[in-house]
Amino acid sequence: MVNEGLNKPGVDIPEEMQNQVAITTLDRIYNWSRSKSLWPMMFGLACCAIEMMITASSRFDFSRFGMEVMRPSPRQADVMLVSGTVTKKMIPQIVRLYNQMPEPRYVLAMGACASGGGPFKEGYNVVSGVDKFIPVDIYVPGCPPTPQALLHGLITLTKKIETEKLSEAEWYRKDFEEEIPVPILGPDLIDPRNFERIKQVSREQLEAKVLDESISTEDTL
Ligand code: SF4
Repeated sequence: MVNEGLNKPGVDIPEEMQNQVAITTLDRIYNWSRSKSLWPMMFGLACCAIEMMITASSRFDFSRFGMEVMRPSPRQADVMLVSGTVTKKMIPQIVRLYNQMPEPRYVLAMGACASGGGPFKEGYNVVSGVDKFIPVDIYVPGCPPTPQALLHGLITLTKKIETEKLSEAEWYRKDFEEEIPVPILGPDLIDPRNFERIKQVSREQLEAKVLDESISTEDTL
């Protein structure tokens, strides 16, 4: 039987060869092979991770989409499912794991917490969405999202991959910046990409404080 899916560039194949030959574009075969064998990284952060485990189990079974190989090592994974609350204590580890994944890599933010902080948004210990630090491809809403919602998000990701073009893939460009600076956890979280802005704000605050103190000293005199 002729593989209709692969014979898309519109090239006529002689009838006697149609069972042996398939013609396709490099983009299609590249995207097809990646989108049908996504390997998620095996880690979870909070309650959403339970739904992720259920999605992998027999009732929902994301292995039907070639995703059953959940990898404990980021070096062998190409999808990061951020399933749960992203705390300030955890984000340095998440960024480090993301940096260790090879390109092309994708991120799915599962649930309200990973997408925007969820019920803990603006809590003292919580990041308002993992996309403040790493790029997110798919957001799955819900608290928690159902396994069906996660499956929908994963299928949407495969559709997104199928639209990619090798010639436009940024990870093949020479100037592509792969590493994201790992945030620093101190009294609060510092994103090294914001160093200049943080220094500027601190300088302004210091100057304002010095000015206040000199005014109050003059008043006392
Ligand atoms: S979105 Fe809801 S279920 Fe998911 S980690 Fe946050 S609180 Fe838990």
